[in-house]
Amino acid sequence: MTMVCRRARVRVTGTVQGVGFRPYVYRLAGELSLDGFVLNDVHGVLIEVEGSAPVVDRFLERLPSEAPPLAVLEQVLVEERAPSGTIGFAIRASIAGAVPDAPVTPDTATCDDCLRELFDPSDRRFRYPFINCTNCGPRFTVVRGVPYDRPLTTMASFTMCAACRAEYEDPTDRRFHAQPNACPACGPSVRLLGGLEPAPEPVDPIAATATALAGGAIVAIKGIGGYHLACRAGDERAVAALRARKHREDKPFALMAPSLSVAASLVSLGAPARAPLTGPARPIVLAPRRPDAPIAESVAPGAPELGVMLPYSPLHHLLLADAGETLVMTSANVSDEPIAYDDRDALERLRGIADLFLVHDRPIQTRTDDSVVRVVAAPAHPRTAFLRRSRGYVPAALALPGAGTRRPLLACGAELKNTFCLARGPRAWISHHIGDLENYETLRSFVEGIEHFGALFAVEPEVIAHDLHPEYLSTKYALERDGVELIGVQHHHAHLAACLAEHGEAGPAVGAIFDGTGYGLDGTVWGGELLLGDVRTFRRAGSLLPVALPGGASAIRQPWRMACSWLSAAVGGGEPDLPASLAGRVDPRAWAQVHRLATGSTAAAPATTSMGRLFDAVAAVAGIRAEVNYEGQAAIELEAAADPGERGSYPIAVGGAPLVIDPRETIRAVAADIRAGRSASVIARRFHRTIARATVEACTTLAAAHGTEVVVLSGGVFQSRLLLESVWDGLRRAGLRVLVPERLPVNDGGIAYGQAAVAAARLI
Ligand SMILES: [Zn+2]
Ligand SMILES: [Zn+2]
Ligand SMILES: [Zn+2]
Repeated sequence: MTMVCRRARVRVTGTVQGVGFRPYVYRLAGELSLDGFVLNDVHGVLIEVEGSAPVVDRFLERLPSEAPPLAVLEQVLVEERAPSGTIGFAIRASIAGAVPDAPVTPDTATCDDCLRELFDPSDRRFRYPFINCTNCGPRFTVVRGVPYDRPLTTMASFTMCAACRAEYEDPTDRRFHAQPNACPACGPSVRLLGGLEPAPEPVDPIAATATALAGGAIVAIKGIGGYHLACRAGDERAVAALRARKHREDKPFALMAPSLSVAASLVSLGAPARAPLTGPARPIVLAPRRPDAPIAESVAPGAPELGVMLPYSPLHHLLLADAGETLVMTSANVSDEPIAYDDRDALERLRGIADLFLVHDRPIQTRTDDSVVRVVAAPAHPRTAFLRRSRGYVPAALALPGAGTRRPLLACGAELKNTFCLARGPRAWISHHIGDLENYETLRSFVEGIEHFGALFAVEPEVIAHDLHPEYLSTKYALERDGVELIGVQHHHAHLAACLAEHGEAGPAVGAIFDGTGYGLDGTVWGGELLLGDVRTFRRAGSLLPVALPGGASAIRQPWRMACSWLSAAVGGGEPDLPASLAGRVDPRAWAQVHRLATGSTAAAPATTSMGRLFDAVAAVAGIRAEVNYEGQAAIELEAAADPGERGSYPIAVGGAPLVIDPRETIRAVAADIRAGRSASVIARRFHRTIARATVEACTTLAAAHGTEVVVLSGGVFQSRLLLESVWDGLRRAGLRVLVPERLPVNDGGIAYGQAAVAAARLI
């Protein structure tokens, strides 16, 4: 009997490097007694296998289905080769090339195998807070350059001991080429610093930290992408002290629960929310707070949702196991500064906040905040929505539509919640969360981040896309770069294009883009926009009725100013009465002044169509918020107040060409409800229902008029779950197809990718 011999060459693309793919192939080939080789090259992984035809078939069948957990296979191409009679199977040296496609993967939560060892007293890494393997551990946050190899990571100064080196070099070991591989004998270590008196250094700094936390201490803890500030979540005194020292008046603190079951006692967790909570990226998951959640009042005053995460580094696992209860784990910064990640800087900046410091000597290369997601109940199926996409997801690439970009490009993003984006060919790399670009510190991490990403992904931008706002630091940065082609992209078009592009849709579509602020084509402040467009171009098909933004930026901090502006527009003629709900909170003279400003058409009161500011105005009239401590607070609290049982709504006008959503009647009705003594929760719900109805009507009208059935919903206002879900449902009932951002935030964190998509489309 003759056996048919076959040799197949297999080209695998996707996220297949640094994820244990070669050892996996080696094991699979060994198990099936196939000959050949596997290697990494610039395109991904190249395999050749030789053996009897049915066995090669079996190999090809099993290859994608049994791939390691972190591998993402985009394509598996098989080509026949002439059998060569090779004996044995080898992992061959990587073929270096000029253009690496997927060299760096996101940081990944400790895997189950490592966890077993971490808590096994007989293991040599028992309680070692830096245990990791090919399937887990730090990646993006420790990478200094490419190729992704130990000397170009922040592990460079630690020399592997013989035992670690043997694992690292053994293709059958799950630590084969795990760059951060380490053990207590050769790797980084933790120390507990600070305290009232110079105490001898504790034998087990993590156990000592847990004891200090139990005693009410606030501890700064160095993690994967930066420092956290921690205290017991159930200790009102400690949480209130943390809040006072951090000057973070109302913003909710994130929590880290020791286990899924404890997390489920804090928030209601459906199956869709459990997936990200326990997945490899381990974001903070926002979910509805349980009324009996055993946490201090000061953790999240007035917030209907709590942000909960599970331990994601071995250090966290040890600490939470020792503490045995939920901890506050909030980004270590003062107020609006970026999160601390550099050791000396952290010790200096956090001295007045933390009582103790749990530090370690593995440097963090790139400051990377925790990601934040929540589950949105879409009519078809629940989906994850990002509020912040950072640690655990960055730097995974997103595809650009069509053939991608013809020339390498950089998109600079917006001002608030900034991210930038580099793109080459079909791929776009969106940065970690940079933050609000309004101080030197964040600007510096923006500029350094661009250089770092450029080196990692071999992108030398020839084209730079930017926002149209001349005062954004990101725009100024773009305009100052020499020798590049500049492409200005309107803010709300970038929101629309980002959503179309991530769904691989070309458009055209109707876009309802509602946010706080964006520079309009006419130089006014846009923010309640009805666009008609595709990835390349757009036109403004309608908007919210423009009103004055009295005092510019101070109108954002003081929603009562927008209440005055909208009431002035709604009642017409003279000064509107100060609503009873604002009496005692707003000085009547200031009210009169703002009324004059709002009706005077001066540069101090530019026109705005901002939907975010309309929500602010109604929150103020309803008596919920006269002033805010952070952007979006009024809208969040308005949504939280809404009475789910209320079925009423207000009149609102939708019509004209271009189409205008005119809520002046709505505002008059809200004021009448206040005079009638109706509660804020009834008003809040009626208002949300009104805006949802108007949005559905506006979108269906435009879709019918322009022969499209696709509607994009985006912009920061759609962070309101109540608004998003009801608009979505209404549009679906009207027979339209709804697209919302799923892989990037609905807020300005998605702008850079949208700018990149627009620029790429215009370069064709
Ligand atoms: Zn592991
Ligand atoms: Zn070692
Ligand atoms: Zn925006």
